[in-house]
This record gives sequence, structure tokens and C-alpha cells, in this order.
Amino acid sequence: MQQGDTISAIATAPGAGGIGVIRISGEHAIDVADAVFRAANGKRLAEVPSRQVIYGHAVDAEGRTVDEILAIVMRSPHSYTCEDVVELQAHGSSVALRKILRLTWQAGARQAERGEFTKRAFLNGRLDVSQAQAVMDIIEARTERSLQMAEGHLSGHFSAQIQAMQDAIMDMTAHIEAVIDFPEDGVEEVVTDEIGAKVQELRTGIARMLQTAHTGRILRDGLMTAIIGKPNVGKSSLLNALLREERAIVTDIPGTTRDSIEEYAEVGGVPLRIIDTAGIRETDDVVEQMGVERARGYVARAALVLALFDGSRPLTAEDEEILGLLHGKDAILLLNKSDLPAVTTAAELAERAGGMEVLPVAVASGAGLDALAKAIHDRAWAGETEGTEGGFVNSEMQAETLRQADAQLAAVQGTLDAGLGLDCASIDLRAAWEKLGELTGNTVREDLIDTIFSRFCIGK
Ligand code: GDP
Repeated sequence: MQQGDTISAIATAPGAGGIGVIRISGEHAIDVADAVFRAANGKRLAEVPSRQVIYGHAVDAEGRTVDEILAIVMRSPHSYTCEDVVELQAHGSSVALRKILRLTWQAGARQAERGEFTKRAFLNGRLDVSQAQAVMDIIEARTERSLQMAEGHLSGHFSAQIQAMQDAIMDMTAHIEAVIDFPEDGVEEVVTDEIGAKVQELRTGIARMLQTAHTGRILRDGLMTAIIGKPNVGKSSLLNALLREERAIVTDIPGTTRDSIEEYAEVGGVPLRIIDTAGIRETDDVVEQMGVERARGYVARAALVLALFDGSRPLTAEDEEILGLLHGKDAILLLNKSDLPAVTTAAELAERAGGMEVLPVAVASGAGLDALAKAIHDRAWAGETEGTEGGFVNSEMQAETLRQADAQLAAVQGTLDAGLGLDCASIDLRAAWEKLGELTGNTVREDLIDTIFSRFCIGK
């Protein structure tokens, strides 16, 4: 197994934690670790078996103890990167972790670049490109279904589908070559028909995969959702109700703070990415109350709009303006405060809104929120089958590559239809094969690889 120069990084999230992990990988990983680690039993890491937990201390160049730590050696090729890897588990103090990290550099390692561990796993053939991306998606998953999808990718469901298509294309080109090399009367026509049928089959498969792109993208990135409505209509109450269950999880995500611009909530099994939640909460401040202009900005960015109206009051000019923003948008109208005597009815609002879906709710008590969850579920997953997350196309880049592969297959059909001969078709087939290879990485371009891994954080 190829081993690059030795790299190290803090692999756990920044901030104080129970433990923090420093990962070292490369040809000299074990020597580097030996320079900073003193095992309690006096053994050097070079002598200990793989995957055993060794207790000891991290020490600096003068032999002073930095922290009490555990070391685990994973020898090539049985490690995350396929290289020699040592993981040092220290206490999760960023000062101690940084100090130990610097010691590994003094001992000959260098700072790992973003995603470099995973990149090495890829370069050593342990993961393909879609699996490497899945590692990132798992790290970033914010809902259970998103996690399921990423897991499916990591376990290779998606790659297997692509691989099967590539194999089918390879079989076709082999078949064509045989016919060209050993021509017999009439065989070319039969083979042309066979190839035509198989290409059509592949195109149908690609079309089916592309149908999952919409769901895949929502699962990965969340459905961009805007909550709009005039002041006091119940926007922040709705936001809090949607976030309630997720609260604990959401605040646990490093870097997510209460005043962050977007928040995630899983509603009806759909990950919603709610725009500018800080702004929505600023309702006590009259100056900051959401005006129509602000709502317009939210609506423009949203894939789903939840527009709130107050059923206990007559509709106002501001409500009309809000309605005016919804043309051509995927919107659910919520007639709030249904616990109070109705002044505006659902039928009335629906009529004003040109027949859009109106759900009566009382956000304060939670009445009607089940129906909202169902409506969101039905819209987001319209026509999709559940439980096939592993095969989902989950990024625009994947979708675009599949479309390009499909275009090459369409070119094969064009070539065959025009009677240009099997050898011409064979060139288009090869191009389709290469396009598909970009998805798994067996024909991927260097710059693409760099783009993918630069999305990662350091230490992954
Ligand atoms: P925002 O300005 O649109 O964010 O509205 P808020 O969520 O701050 O709510 C404004 C007021 O309406 C608050 O006093 C809420 O308690 C009240 N409110 C929200 N939802 C309901 C509801 O379903 N029923 C009733 N009666 N009051 C509600």
C-alpha cells in the first residue's frame, strides 16, 4: 500500500470535549507517535499489536507530561487511510490537543490538509469518490433520513448501481469489437438491434436515478423553507414548535448557535432548512419586525413557503401583499389562532389565495401541526418511493454527471439510427463509460478530486 508523507491533525471538533483525538497517518506515523507518547508499560508503539488500546502519557521534548492519553496503532493496510495510522485520545482540551499536535510536527509529521485522510483512503482504493463524499455527508447529516442516505452511499449502494452500468457498457463494447474483428453476414444488424435495446435500458435506469435527485438533494441539504407573515401572526411560535423536538440535537451541533442564520427541523420526515431564524425571532423589536420586503427576500430563496395568517382578525393590506409574494411558489397557507373565534375563515383565505392549500392551525396549542407535517411530507416526497436512500442521487454534481452520461448514450442511439456503424457507436459508448466513472472515481479528474476533498474539514 502506498504511504505518503506523514500527516497529523486534530480529528475531533473544536471546543472543549470529554476526549479529543489526534490522528497521525503515513509512513512514519508510528515513529512520530513514539516520539510524543510514553506507554505506562514502557513499551514502544512500534512493538505493540495493531488495534490495541495502550495507556500512557503525551510528553514534550524535555519529557514533561502534557496529558494522560490512550494510543491506538492501526497498521497498513487495516486503517482508515490504508496507511499506518496512530490515534491518540487525549482529554478534549484544545490547549493540550494543540500542544500534542505541535509535538507531532516537531517529530516529523506535517499538518494534514482538509480531507487529506479521506483523500488518502480514496487514493489507496479503500473508498471511491461517492463513498468519500458520503463520509462528509455523514459528518454533516442533520436528520436521521439524511444519515440513512449517506450511510447507503458509504456502504456502496450508489457506486454499485453505477458500476453495474459501466459493466454493461463494457460488455457492449467487447461485443462490438468481436463483431468488427470477425464480421459475418447479417451479424452486424442483429448486434445493432441488441445494443440499441441495451442502451435504451441504461437510459431508463439513469432516468430513474435522476428522479431521486430531488429527494436526495433535500435529504442532504434540507428543504429551504421560509416562514413569513405580518407581525404577531405567530411566526416565531411556529418556528419554536417546529424546532421543539429537535432542539437538543440542533444545539449540540458545533458551530450552531441560537443566533445562527438557518436552523434545521425534521418535519414529517423532511429536513427543513429554515431561513433566517434569528430574524424571525426578533419580533419584540418593532424596528426589526418582518416587513414585506424582508419576506420577499425569504420567499425568493425558499423552495417551500409557510405563510401565516391570523384567523382571529380580518385580513389586512399587509396580508394581501404577503399573498402577492406567493405566485408560482410552493406554499402552504396556515390560518393561525384557530382556538380563537374565527373572523377570517379558511374558505375565505383560500379564495383570496386563488385556491392554494389552507390549513387551520393553532400554533400555540399545536393543533393542526400534524396536518402540516403531512402536507410537507406529501409535497417533498411526492411520487418517491421510500427506503431506497442508498441509491439516491444526492448532489447536483452527481445529477449533472448522470445527465451527461445519458447524453452520450443518446448519441450512441443517434449513431446507430443514422447507420454510421458499430465502430462509431463504440466511441460514444466509451465516452459514456468514462462519464459514469467520474461518479465512482475510476475515471475522475484531478481537479474534481481536489474540489471534493476541499469541502472536508481538517482532520477528516
Ligand atoms: P410573530 O411576530 O409572527 O413571530 O408572532 P409570535 O409567534 O411572536 O406570536 C405573536 C402572539 O400571538 C404571541 O402572543 C403568541 O402567544 C400568540 N399566538 C401565537 N400562536 C397562537 C395561537 O395559535 N393562538 C393564540 N390564541 N395565540 C397565538
